[in-house]
Amino acid sequence: MYVNNNKDIRKNQMEVLTDKTQKGEERPWRENKLKTLSLAKSYERIGNTRKADRVKNCSSQLIYKKDKNTGIKKLHSMISCQVRLCPMCAWRRSLKIFGQTSKIMDKALENKEYRFIFLTLTCRNVEGKELSKIIDNLFYAFKKMMLKTKVKQIVKGWFRALEVTHNLDKKSKDYNTYHPHFHVILMVNKSYFTDTKQYLSQKDWTSLWKDCLRVDYMPIVNIKAFKTNTKKEVEKSVAESAKYTVKDNDYLIVNDEKMTDETVSILDGALANRRLVAFGGELKKIHKSLNLSDIEKASVNTDSDDDVVLRDDVNYVFEVYNWNIGYNNGQYLKVKEIDKKEN
Ligand SMILES: [Zn+2]
Repeated sequence: MYVNNNKDIRKNQMEVLTDKTQKGEERPWRENKLKTLSLAKSYERIGNTRKADRVKNCSSQLIYKKDKNTGIKKLHSMISCQVRLCPMCAWRRSLKIFGQTSKIMDKALENKEYRFIFLTLTCRNVEGKELSKIIDNLFYAFKKMMLKTKVKQIVKGWFRALEVTHNLDKKSKDYNTYHPHFHVILMVNKSYFTDTKQYLSQKDWTSLWKDCLRVDYMPIVNIKAFKTNTKKEVEKSVAESAKYTVKDNDYLIVNDEKMTDETVSILDGALANRRLVAFGGELKKIHKSLNLSDIEKASVNTDSDDDVVLRDDVNYVFEVYNWNIGYNNGQYLKVKEIDKKEN
């Protein structure tokens, strides 16, 4: 596929990768690659050598496509491990989710008949050994709530994302417990806010959620308006719900291998085989109509969902960067440039 004019880069010409966003911020490739190595070590220690190998090799090579005239470059391909806790893959996935959700919301907002609200549905903090079972119950409760007549009447579409936080505050009574919860965007009729028959107060949502969760305490439920006046507001709102499932510093714990391994092992089991992010109703239909890929299965190996588009007819070159752990405590270094002749 790529031919000729391959230029192998000599040692003294080593070029460290820089990859900036349109806003000029450096993309965190190096940071995430270093974190994948910490995770690989943890998988090794807990005896999961298969995952350790996958994570260790994740994103070891990045191939960029660069417009020769403008110098603008875009990730063309990489090989990712797709392990759920992999910090690199999680970062790439979060960009994808943000991209998709933004596109879907832009489309949904074209229809002025609808409004959007945020819901955060939580439960009490739980011990690691209970986490998987409690997450099962959260999924069950969400499904049940969406089927309630009252909810079905007002909710036209939804987006939900699971987030799990891990309390690492040694002074907290909840130290080393987990807090699984859902961030939800609900698409409702415009009349929802004015029609008292439709409107559900915070208290109503709480008791509905309590009922579906089948618990004997009042779970915390937050409701917030989803601001949609400007594109920036929409982006901010989307970013608030389309977050990471777990932040990597909640399981890659500095100077504490024992806690890291225990947490990796708990989360690895509790998050396996779940649909962590999903769309429903009208939002699912829009997802389909926009031909977006299934987020859970989508490849994170390309930048297809971002705004930079390199046309195929421009003069471009492929730049190949390899991860080099021996160089400056780990860097991506350019090892090859390949002129595009035929693709
Ligand atoms: Zn990965």
